[in-house]
Amino acid sequence: MFKNIKYLLLSMFVVFKHLFKKPVTLEYPEKKITPPKEFRGKPVVKNCKGCGICLRVCPSGAIQIDKENSSFKIDLKKCIFCGNCAYYCPHGAIKMSEEYELASNDKEDLIMNYRIGGVDERN
Ligand code: SF4
Ligand code: SF4
Repeated sequence: MFKNIKYLLLSMFVVFKHLFKKPVTLEYPEKKITPPKEFRGKPVVKNCKGCGICLRVCPSGAIQIDKENSSFKIDLKKCIFCGNCAYYCPHGAIKMSEEYELASNDKEDLIMNYRIGGVDERN
């Protein structure tokens, strides 16, 4: 009996102790975080020269380059967001963005299509 009361008081103490503390979780997706500046989200490409260096340093084979068709693709299903492509691109054409909400029911949505030499994202 006394043991039960002791545990009841102890649990109430724990509850009260945390009642006035700032929550460590976020009510996502209603509230969203601003990622820190070192965050590596979706890689975005602009003014790519098609040199292919990123292709060679990508550890997961997520990048496809088709120079004949000026096509540059990043498959986000394969990308591990390591940032190698952005780090080694000699033209600064890839940036790791802050975008982290990338979930989709359609696999095609996860293939980023860019144009070599251009600034537009094709999808
Ligand atoms: S972030 Fe890493 S895994 Fe993703 S495309 Fe770039 S090099 Fe490949
Ligand atoms: S993104 Fe950079 S490293 Fe990759 S092909 Fe384009 S210019 Fe070369």
